[in-house]
Amino acid sequence: MDNTIADNQKLLTESQIISRPVRRSLDYQQISLYKDVNPLDWEDWHWQMKHRVTKLEQISQIVKLTSEEEEGIKNARGRMAMAITPYWATLMDGDDPSCPIRRQAIPEVYEFQVGPHEMVDPCGEDTDSPAPHLVHRYPDRVLLLSTEQCAMYCRHCTRRRLVGDEANSDTNANRWDAALDYIRSNKKIRDVLISGGDPFTYEDEVLGDLLKKIRAIPHVEFLRIGTRIPVTLPQRITERLISTLKKSGPIWISIHFNHPKEITKRTRIACEMLADAGFPLGSQTVLLKGINDRPCIMRKLVHDLLKIRVRPYYIYQCDLVRGTQHFRTSVKEGINIIEKLRGYTSGYAVPTYVIDAPGGGGKIPVNPNYIISQTKGKYVLRNYENKVFTYLE
Ligand SMILES: *Cc1c(COP(=O)(O)O)cnc(C)c1O
Ligand code: SF4
Repeated sequence: MDNTIADNQKLLTESQIISRPVRRSLDYQQISLYKDVNPLDWEDWHWQMKHRVTKLEQISQIVKLTSEEEEGIKNARGRMAMAITPYWATLMDGDDPSCPIRRQAIPEVYEFQVGPHEMVDPCGEDTDSPAPHLVHRYPDRVLLLSTEQCAMYCRHCTRRRLVGDEANSDTNANRWDAALDYIRSNKKIRDVLISGGDPFTYEDEVLGDLLKKIRAIPHVEFLRIGTRIPVTLPQRITERLISTLKKSGPIWISIHFNHPKEITKRTRIACEMLADAGFPLGSQTVLLKGINDRPCIMRKLVHDLLKIRVRPYYIYQCDLVRGTQHFRTSVKEGINIIEKLRGYTSGYAVPTYVIDAPGGGGKIPVNPNYIISQTKGKYVLRNYENKVFTYLE
């Protein structure tokens, strides 16, 4: 069971599925747990959400669990408990514990160890919060933490203090009232980023209402959504969702992608639907040890993203959030990745590597140093090949 299952997966729009005769066997049906699932159900995002893999007995039918994983699953209860969409589950390599798809979704016992310098709220979001669910750090833009729910809970999540408590999560639409009032009364805010959690977990109507309320604020000129759903639950990107979003457009969408294996044909269709509808797409990637910390993997990821019209936006150094030490690389490795991209490939393929500064300093770009010396009127620079050039001012 490997990536080819997903890659071969026939990508059907809802209408195509309806008009097509049922084929002998769909690729997901090769997994015994899903062999009897109707393709219409498989393509239904509500079905996918309802049938998320949350139990040891289920996941052990798909994956040969290691003892670290078994213990991790048993420990992960309540907030950030394991929840994996059937779609994502079919991408896992059941025989390879180092499978990047698997490691991002199945808790390991290491998650319950606290590494040095690790914090509950590493980027100080709670201290920069002028209203519930709102973070205001930069002068002209705010981050709205619109929900605590996601399609899948990523084991490296930086907001694990907030997300994944589905039993106690407040889904009342008036939860945003104070945040919206704050945005309305602060004319400097021209950019609203709706993230979470994952905003696409809301029903179309709820999300549509929120977007309309924000769009109605005259000084908000830039609206964007942060999501991982095109990757973890591409079935959610429906024509109906797109027409809902279009009503409050233009909207920019940042998608959390970490590994080239995530770019399946099904995810490509979801991204193509969004791009064709006119939403500019960007990617945000977390640098993760053993998952995407090799320059060749990152190069494949950024190239494959460009092919589906997703512009690599940020690579994040893995925040100092509790329980993620096993995912964290050194900063040097991140800089080396940028060094291996810049100049060697299209500028559009090169994201900005950032550290979200502990204590609320915001995103700080960390780059290879291309300035060798800077004196009055004279810059000595090196290029990507280490050749030296002088620029006279
Ligand atoms: C990342 C982030 C933003 C948006 O930052 P950009 O660099 O403009 O993408 C805004 N507010 C907070 C709190 C953030 O963490
Ligand atoms: S989708 Fe984002 S917010 Fe949700 S668990 Fe993954 S990283 Fe965290």
